Amino acid sequence: MRHDTPPSRTHCDFSCNGEKICETMDKAGVPARGRWRTLVLYMRGMQEYEQLAEDQKARIQNLLINTLRSKDYSDESYESLIQQKNDILNQSNRMYLQAALQKTERLVQEFGDLMIQRRKDVKRLGDETVTLIETEGGDSASIIEKIRDSFSEVVEAMDQDARLLQEMTRTDPLTNIANRRAFDEVLAEAARAWTEQGTPFSLIMLDIDHFKRFNDTYGHRIGDQALITVAALLREAGKSFAKENDCTFIPARYGGEEFAVILPGVVQNDAMDAAEDVLAKVRAYNFVIRDADGGVIERGIRLTLSAGVAEVLPEWNGNFTDRIVDAADKAMYSAKRQGRNRVRLYVEGGF
Ligand code: GH3
Ligand code: MG
Ligand code: MG
Repeated sequence: MRHDTPPSRTHCDFSCNGEKICETMDKAGVPARGRWRTLVLYMRGMQEYEQLAEDQKARIQNLLINTLRSKDYSDESYESLIQQKNDILNQSNRMYLQAALQKTERLVQEFGDLMIQRRKDVKRLGDETVTLIETEGGDSASIIEKIRDSFSEVVEAMDQDARLLQEMTRTDPLTNIANRRAFDEVLAEAARAWTEQGTPFSLIMLDIDHFKRFNDTYGHRIGDQALITVAALLREAGKSFAKENDCTFIPARYGGEEFAVILPGVVQNDAMDAAEDVLAKVRAYNFVIRDADGGVIERGIRLTLSAGVAEVLPEWNGNFTDRIVDAADKAMYSAKRQGRNRVRLYVEGGF
């Protein structure tokens, strides 16, 4: 077992944030040289990480305090501390992964149920056909007619299954709008129409402002409800915009708390109007926070979005799908930098 150098006040050669941290580490007997002080400072710095939830920060803090109290600076203790720290950091990823796995399991289950049902239908069809031939005697025309009817029933049910499955693979299960897969397909289609017929298209990327804070304050279940509401508002704004401008407005969940809208045949100024409409709708919405039994916990909660808009540009020379996503993304991050709750238009060379 390897132990690091014993503590020495004169050997505190880290660029610490003031003397106090060094003093605390000295008192706790943290070896002055080697990796222990780096790790302690690194973990202490995590209290400032915006991406960590409050309970994650508290657990990191406790872990650190317990380690310093135990004064065990062995290799085993070091490895264990790293492992526990990683477990805490991965906690939210694990949560999302588990939710995604559960959704996949449900899909597989639904798919399996459909298949079992169709197998039963086909078996029934076989049995009915045999009975029909055995009991109907020589009237082959009516036998064929009946068999054809039964077949078309099963084929119709199978077509419906195929449509349902297609729908399921293209829809985001939480918000019920197009998922990332559908988004990629529609965007590729818009890029094809641009290349082949010169039909322009625009893209809006939208991101909920300070959503981590919202989650930290109200919890993930309420966070999910907010995502559902934002998607509904997006769809609602889209319906009026599409009607007024006689165009298509395709909203999608791009991932996490990010949404995207593809606007085939729409130029940038109109796309800007569409984005402003969406932002205004979300900004004006009064979110009501309810407990699991539906009781109101808090009213009048507001959420805002930041958005970036881009229209396809001829000078991009191919790879239009990636270029327009990058462009709208850049504009969206610029909106964030300028204070959030606003729309920014992408200008080539201007970002
Ligand atoms: P910014 O204004 O810069 O976008 O800040 P932000 O907090 O919104 O951005 P950040 O990327 O730091 O955090 C996004 C958060 O979105 C982190 C995660 O907790 C939350 N989130 C992502 N997907 C989901 C989801 O499916 N459900 C819930 N409830 N939260 C989600
Ligand atoms: Mg985001
Ligand atoms: Mg965000």
